[in-house]
Amino acid sequence: MIELKDLRYDYRNGPTLSFADLSASAGCTLLVRGASGAGKSTLLALMAGLLTPTAGQVFVDGIDVGALAPRQRDAWRGAHLGFVPQRLHLSEALSVRDNLGLPYVCAGEPVQPARIAEVLERLGLQGLAARRPHQLSVGQAQRVALARAVLRGPSLLLADEPTASLDDEAAAEALRLLIELAALSRATLVLATHDARVSQALPDAQLLQLNRAPACSA
Ligand code: ADP
Ligand code: MG
Repeated sequence: MIELKDLRYDYRNGPTLSFADLSASAGCTLLVRGASGAGKSTLLALMAGLLTPTAGQVFVDGIDVGALAPRQRDAWRGAHLGFVPQRLHLSEALSVRDNLGLPYVCAGEPVQPARIAEVLERLGLQGLAARRPHQLSVGQAQRVALARAVLRGPSLLLADEPTASLDDEAAAEALRLLIELAALSRATLVLATHDARVSQALPDAQLLQLNRAPACSA
């Protein structure tokens, strides 16, 4: 479950972003909507413990993520979080298969080839395992990033604008896979989007509408 309490983030050379309180139960789908610049990516970074709140708290399954010390936070992220960032951050130097080994390496655990093969197959990527990211279509690269995010069975799956650069068919497929994979790991799914297609495809999702930050007065 996710709870936001009096959450605020001040960019040093940018806006102050305040977020309304929220409570979303475990396993639900939360849609974070708002125009470009409203703070969607910032909120996901706060939920992921990649940014530390200026004030207030983000609780994930009762844990105050911002209060964790850096090493604890890394460990928490490795064990519980799946993140599909807007820029996918796949390593161009590595094959698809080796990109999927990275989460284990980062966690200091042995790579699990059988689990990697299972996830590649579920996402229809088994034939692409030896390719480098630049040899993939945009939709295929998105699926590799999704595979990387769900490998270790996260309890919280965050996706930032997962349909932004996809055509209608690939966007529908990406959403279907996100929902299916979140359900398989019983994860809470948080989608940040300004894409009306996502809201239409997920009429039952819990909504968090962000308003654009006021212009910076500095
Ligand atoms: P969204 O994802 O909804 O488009 P963001 O969370 O990326 O919004 O950004 C929210 C606001 O914070 C925007 O006004 C943006 O310009 C500003 N912002 C984002 N990152 C920084 C940064 N590193 N420094 C200063 N301002 C930033
Ligand atoms: Mg964004």
